Amino acid sequence: MEKIRYFDHAATTATKEEVLKEMLPYFNLNYGNASSMYSIGRKSRKAVEEARQKTAVAIGAETKEVYFTSCGSESDNLAIKGVAYANHKRGNHIITTKIEHPAVLHTCQHLEREGFKVTYLNVNSEGLISLNELEEAITPQTILISVMFANNEIGTIQPIKEIGEIAKRHHIYFHTDAVQAIGNLRINVKEYNIDLLSMSAHKFYGPKGMGALYVKTGVDFEKIQDGGHQERNMRAGTENVAGIVGLGKAIELAYENFDKYNEKLISLRDYYISQVQEKIPNTKLNGHKEKRLPGNANISFEGVDGEALLLNLDVKGICASSRFSMYIRFFRPISCISSNWITKPNCTRVTTCNIWR
Ligand SMILES: *Cc1c(COP(=O)(O)O)cnc(C)c1O
Repeated sequence: MEKIRYFDHAATTATKEEVLKEMLPYFNLNYGNASSMYSIGRKSRKAVEEARQKTAVAIGAETKEVYFTSCGSESDNLAIKGVAYANHKRGNHIITTKIEHPAVLHTCQHLEREGFKVTYLNVNSEGLISLNELEEAITPQTILISVMFANNEIGTIQPIKEIGEIAKRHHIYFHTDAVQAIGNLRINVKEYNIDLLSMSAHKFYGPKGMGALYVKTGVDFEKIQDGGHQERNMRAGTENVAGIVGLGKAIELAYENFDKYNEKLISLRDYYISQVQEKIPNTKLNGHKEKRLPGNANISFEGVDGEALLLNLDVKGICASSRFSMYIRFFRPISCISSNWITKPNCTRVTTCNIWR
């Protein structure tokens, strides 16, 4: 069989061996409910709280500001709906962007059907929002700004610190979907004035079905799932102890040797982009040249059908992506290939997308 070269780390990553090893005992040896009083329950509780601390440390938060969820999508729902419902008396306006992940876009559309007003900011040809447009969109009714840290397809990194300053100045909550950024960029929620931040373990070599939401102390938000009192009464459901342990370990590992790893990733990315542009005619790099995720390359190949390209790459054992999504309306590449390099040469990733025309 052809060796698989995986270029789709924006879609998901393999769970690291060390992460899996830490998770395994919590399935069948230490299976106690983290809310139970006996010793195996207390062991589970301890593991959950250790993972919470590791997660908080990684983003510069306080331990009690981290809530575990079932995925990045749930974190986005909880952040946006949670703030909207708790603050609707103060105002009914939300500002987001046109290039958010569906977990944010569809949540905002859901709120629009319930009477909320949403402004979807445009992005420029490099995928960046305009800070002026953001500030102009603010009204006395605005309660929340939700802008993704980095885009999952074109990799563009938004001016998060500046957005945080604007939000703070206007006393508006600031949520960021940092699912692509965690593990790839250094993040400090206090320094960036972030009030809520979503992450997902399977995007940084942790398990699928495991997310977390940071909510700054004092932010008024409501739970959206009713049930038990888990996660300080903000997210009902028996804790996924193994998953939580996995997220904690994965985020810890992601920030070990971070600089060295990132340097290597950036040089591989830039080498790949320069080689494609040199060797293949009529290509265009989408997104921003420098303000992009270290492992992201997103390239349009003029006149090439994205789906056909993907199928041909698959025959060669290369996994890449080509997606049909919102940003395409603004960039209109004919077809694109996005790759997210990892250091192991036998595990590279490629995904292609068939684009809106
Ligand atoms: C993957 C992703 C999500 C969704 O995370 P899940 O854990 O798969 O629900 C949300 N936002 C962005 C930017 C993503 O890349």
